[in-house]
Amino acid sequence: MERIFIGVAWPYANGSLHLGTLAGCLLPGDIFGRYHRMKGNAVLMVSGSDEHGTPITLTAEKEGVTPQKIVDKYHKEHKKNLEELAIKFENFTRTSNEFHKNVVKNFFLKLYENGYIYPKKMRTFYCENCKRFLPDRYIEGICPYCQGKARGDQCEDCGRTLDANEILMPKCKICGEEPILKETEHLFFRLSAFEEKLLEWLKDKDFWRDNVINFTLNFIKSGLKDRAITRDIEWGVEVPIPGYENKRIYVWFDALIGYLSASMEWAEKIGKPDEWKKWWVDEAKHYYFLAKDNIPFHTVIWPAMLMAHGGLNLPYDVPANEYLTLSGEQFSKSKGVGIWLPDVLSRFNGDAIRYYLSINMPEKHDTDWKWEDFIAKNNNELVAIYGNFIHRVLTFTYKNFGKIPPYSKEAEIDKETMEKVIKNFEGVGKSIESCNFKEGIKKVMKIAQIGNQYMNASQPWKLIKDDVERCKSVLHICLRIVKILAFSSAPYMPKTADKIWKMLGYKDSIHEHKWEDALEELDENEIDKPSILFEKLEIKEEPFSKIDLRVAKIIGVDEHPNADKLYVIELDVGELGKRKIVAGIKPWYRKEELIGRKIVLLANLKPARIRGIVSNGMLLAAQDNGKAVLLIPNAKEGSKIWAEGIEPSPAPEITYEEFKKLKIICKKGFVEYEGKVLQDEYGKIRIDKPVKDGSEVV
Ligand SMILES: [Zn+2]
Ligand SMILES: [Zn+2]
Repeated sequence: MERIFIGVAWPYANGSLHLGTLAGCLLPGDIFGRYHRMKGNAVLMVSGSDEHGTPITLTAEKEGVTPQKIVDKYHKEHKKNLEELAIKFENFTRTSNEFHKNVVKNFFLKLYENGYIYPKKMRTFYCENCKRFLPDRYIEGICPYCQGKARGDQCEDCGRTLDANEILMPKCKICGEEPILKETEHLFFRLSAFEEKLLEWLKDKDFWRDNVINFTLNFIKSGLKDRAITRDIEWGVEVPIPGYENKRIYVWFDALIGYLSASMEWAEKIGKPDEWKKWWVDEAKHYYFLAKDNIPFHTVIWPAMLMAHGGLNLPYDVPANEYLTLSGEQFSKSKGVGIWLPDVLSRFNGDAIRYYLSINMPEKHDTDWKWEDFIAKNNNELVAIYGNFIHRVLTFTYKNFGKIPPYSKEAEIDKETMEKVIKNFEGVGKSIESCNFKEGIKKVMKIAQIGNQYMNASQPWKLIKDDVERCKSVLHICLRIVKILAFSSAPYMPKTADKIWKMLGYKDSIHEHKWEDALEELDENEIDKPSILFEKLEIKEEPFSKIDLRVAKIIGVDEHPNADKLYVIELDVGELGKRKIVAGIKPWYRKEELIGRKIVLLANLKPARIRGIVSNGMLLAAQDNGKAVLLIPNAKEGSKIWAEGIEPSPAPEITYEEFKKLKIICKKGFVEYEGKVLQDEYGKIRIDKPVKDGSEVV
């Protein structure tokens, strides 16, 4: 028996989980954990909600609630989604709990005593307008390395971690003013002291994924800088030494220690407070599952922190994934692009999603989530090959025998078939052990194909008439293949595997069995009427996804020469450039009120000539008793606006009639399409003045 620790990167509790997090960290961790538990290894798999940090305080400020309220909401939602997807943790906890905070403080004190934490005066951004220091995400600007978009501590384009004061053209994210640099004292972790030790430790890590080891070595060789571990913020873990009462521990430091605190908390919960030591102090292999943007934290910074602490196990392997992209764009909660799990899970079978993400896992390069491909793989592979084989075997057996028939009359093809099946089954195990999950699931499908071929070649539906003994034997072989399929699917599609197991007449859970039990003889169980495993899917086109809504800024307003109630408005639509529209809001808004305002633009409306002037798009306004009220977006001009859970996939052009069919209405100060709130990357779209609930938006 081996001891396996599995750390899965902690999802941020500032929004719903998306498919990218599932593909990048949660699913590979779960496949690995489930397999090793079945192998009889002692698995401790932990993670939790990462509840500190500026994305959360920013969301809270935007929504006018406490950070605690935000994290409570999303932690609860995350837990529910994980259950629906059958992601099994020994402990999925959260960083805002007291247990975690105490472990962080003790870890901090140990590093402090060991001389790896020291104070240093530094100049950080301070907004004189907002009268506050601006920790990383409160700053936006330009990356000094690639000229891309920098968001405080990281460049979105090149992925480099940045010091806030490296950023060019910084702006306060709250008020948009340019901040000043002001002196303050912070505590630093002496990361630079670990260059040699890390390189030494990495020497035997030649089995790591190429991208991980190469990135790590380059990261270290480009020079390690000491890192600030405190910041000027009120939300977070208190600094356990005097003089830093107004500061908190930096979120990266606190979240990484979560792996240890979640293990300790698990031990506490099962009533054996020292049990965690079996994984952290005694011999155990530590695996960490995460996406590539998180590599340096797990292959450099966390190992250095563990070295600084002493006496704790270092990572064994960090099989980081590349990104799952959505038509080329990286999934990112903070950018508002992605497919959110609550929505996806309300529409599709969790195991079908797990299947598609396994066979399309971004292990060695980025992969794309494509809805058409998801539907095709569900229909052509899960339904037509896998589900079909299992269903054919079980229904034929149920109808003709009602129980698992014995094997009595052999044929050459049986042996050949079983050899191929067993070879693939063993291959699934080897693939999972080496973290090649995509290769593993392909072998599972191969087993289903072999089963189909065997059944087609043996034709039990003919044998039932003239050779019942041979018919029973053929079915027996088919049912053995079904059993092996159930086991080999168990790490990938745990609910489906259990369903198959029950359909084979077993009463317990397949997940309580050993992996090797797959190859044991079948019991002659009675079986019930089998049910369908996967449904064929059809994709319904969501008409709202066809429209292109954008934030636009009014830069010019003129009276329409031929109409009393119309303005000709000039707009800046960011990446879409400048354009002119005609709008009937003159009775309700004065020119001066409009200049500089941001509005919601329907950007792909077919251009129309209105009283002699071409309007390139339409401004959206609420209509209350014939009165027009503007909608107020939050983001920069050019930014996309969408309805919650509906991925924009705009048509080149839509007609006014098509747009009119979409019922967009006002409700409680916000704007909705079929109960889905309209939003941009900074939050919900608001309404300029109060209007009656149900007022239409046109
Ligand atoms: Zn950059
Ligand atoms: Zn400000």
